[in-house]
Amino acid sequence: MKKVRRKWPATVIVFLFAVTLILGVGTLAFANQSIPDQYPESVLYSKPVKVVDGVWSAIGATGPPTYENSGHNNNLSFVITTDGVLVVNGGASYTLAEALHQEIKTLTDQPVKLVVNENGQGHAMLGNSYWAGQGVSIIAHADAAEGFREQGEDILDRMEGYNREKAKGTIVSLPDETFEGTKVITMGDTRIELITFGPAHSPGDISVWLPEKDLIISGDMAFHQRLLPVFEETETAGWLESWEDFAALNVTHVIPGHGVPTNMTEVTKYTKDYLIYLRGKVQEVLDAGGALQDSYDIDQSPYAHLDTFEELAKRNAERVFREMEFE
Ligand SMILES: [Zn+2]
Repeated sequence: MKKVRRKWPATVIVFLFAVTLILGVGTLAFANQSIPDQYPESVLYSKPVKVVDGVWSAIGATGPPTYENSGHNNNLSFVITTDGVLVVNGGASYTLAEALHQEIKTLTDQPVKLVVNENGQGHAMLGNSYWAGQGVSIIAHADAAEGFREQGEDILDRMEGYNREKAKGTIVSLPDETFEGTKVITMGDTRIELITFGPAHSPGDISVWLPEKDLIISGDMAFHQRLLPVFEETETAGWLESWEDFAALNVTHVIPGHGVPTNMTEVTKYTKDYLIYLRGKVQEVLDAGGALQDSYDIDQSPYAHLDTFEELAKRNAERVFREMEFE
């Protein structure tokens, strides 16, 4: 068939231009983030992408949780095996978990058999409420489950604050199985190792290693594209020690906790190297007899191009100062 090329009258072009301009300005005025949602048809921030055969990830926004990104600001991954699907992270709400499940169903007839929570944060565990309702088992590190048991209601309140009606259906739903150290799971043709490398970003951080796929779903052990957050409970010295064991696996493909899938070189830059850099700068302040106030002036410009830099850089310096003061 031959395509008919239509000539648009100038008035139509002007009109379309005006509409685009208005919509564009509207987005700037109302969205909290410079990067608009990648998948407007879904509450998911982006549609799952295939990382290697059988391993998919819906990459979250690399900014703070907002109504616009529905709290999908971490990576929600899944592994399709010959005997069921393993999901990594509940997601920040019931509706996010449900949306992820819809995506999984379009890719495979295999049922979801197990959900892993990378730690006890809201965006790892709040969506457990959906999966529990589906009768799916949920596993996490004992410390992550304990943290969520203690703080789950507050975490839920905060999520309801930004997610409003999108929070519907979400309740605090604890993992039904916990472990410490390493747990090996065989699901159909796939060997899956849940590994605790030690103290890192928050209590009960774990990574999911798929040795045959030469891939690791690192959880918050590793960051990419955005500045990592140092929390009250973050142990930066411990994180650097744990990093050695993580790096020793020498894995080719890394699905980080945040940011697009990449490799060890990249996550090393934005995790290990940043921690060493910031600790080095804080040490200089301490050596010069500086006070907490002085940590705010630390130059972190080599990392200023990362998302969430504005929100986190000063706070990170302050927390590392408080940690190192007593080392
Ligand atoms: Zn996270």
